[in-house]
Amino acid sequence: MILNQIFNAINIGIVILDRDLKIHEWNRWMEVYSGLAVDKVKGSPIFDVFPQLNNPKFIRSCKSVFHFGNFCFFSQKLHRYLFPFRTKGYADSKFEYMQQSCAMGPLRDENNEIKYLFIYVQDVTEVASYEQKLVEMNLRDGLTGIYNRRFLESKITDEFNRHKRYGSIFSIIMFDIDHFKVVNDTYGHQCGDFILKSISSRISSAIRNVDYLSRYGGEEFCCLLPETGLKAALIVAERFRTAIMEQENNYDGTLVKVTISLGVAETREGVDSHVMLIKKADDALYRAKKEGRNRVEAML
Ligand code: GH3
Ligand code: MG
Ligand code: MG
Repeated sequence: MILNQIFNAINIGIVILDRDLKIHEWNRWMEVYSGLAVDKVKGSPIFDVFPQLNNPKFIRSCKSVFHFGNFCFFSQKLHRYLFPFRTKGYADSKFEYMQQSCAMGPLRDENNEIKYLFIYVQDVTEVASYEQKLVEMNLRDGLTGIYNRRFLESKITDEFNRHKRYGSIFSIIMFDIDHFKVVNDTYGHQCGDFILKSISSRISSAIRNVDYLSRYGGEEFCCLLPETGLKAALIVAERFRTAIMEQENNYDGTLVKVTISLGVAETREGVDSHVMLIKKADDALYRAKKEGRNRVEAML
């Protein structure tokens, strides 16, 4: 009686199956999430209620519990579910279905014979959402929401390895806001931040899905363009330049315009490492600054 109250009050799903994998019991938690009272499902094969459990892995696990009396654990994160229950709308959770941590094990009678198996189901959606958010945060810049330098460098390294192995080409565009210090000094640091966000969002909307834009340093950005040679990358860079030059940033009623200088580099013979590629783009950017800013320069 007392145990029964715990059985139904606990914030975990419990299902008990007999040797034919028919439902013997489930608790209140299971009733709530499945929408099925235990009396409705008692004696039914579990596969009638949850057809997706009728898969070799699940059946194998059940058999081994009955045969060997062992325990099995299932991590049902990232779009696999033992029991497909909708989430109850955790704040900004991306998961449509409950992420679950499940286990099963044997239940023995007084003669030590395994009569049933139990499955417990734990809702781990909230933890999984935090995990996912942490992973995302690690890749992105806090102010602008675009990728951060660490992530971009790892992407450039990957692309470079692909280039070495398969001969694929790619380019990078480095760019830096012109006289940004003056913007900060004239309109304040907040306005500077606003410009950084505004440029990030403008360029993000100008690139393909396969390109990666990152904030590389304070007011310096780097864009990786896979499968793109220098000639095409220069056209893209020129598009960036005009887009930013023409952009009117309305900061609290004040129109603030900025320009950017850009350096472009491609993978080619003689560029032996991703570090060298970045250096080539950096040198080109430096030349763009020296030649008067608001311009695009290609690697030499
Ligand atoms: P140049 O045309 O040669 O690039 O001149 P510049 O003034 O842009 O270059 P400089 O390197 O002298 O100054 C960069 C400025 O960018 C100084 C720094 O305060 C500002 N900055 C860097 N990160 C941030 C940021 O996160 N927010 C704001 N508001 N300003 C930043
Ligand atoms: Mg600058
Ligand atoms: Mg700079």
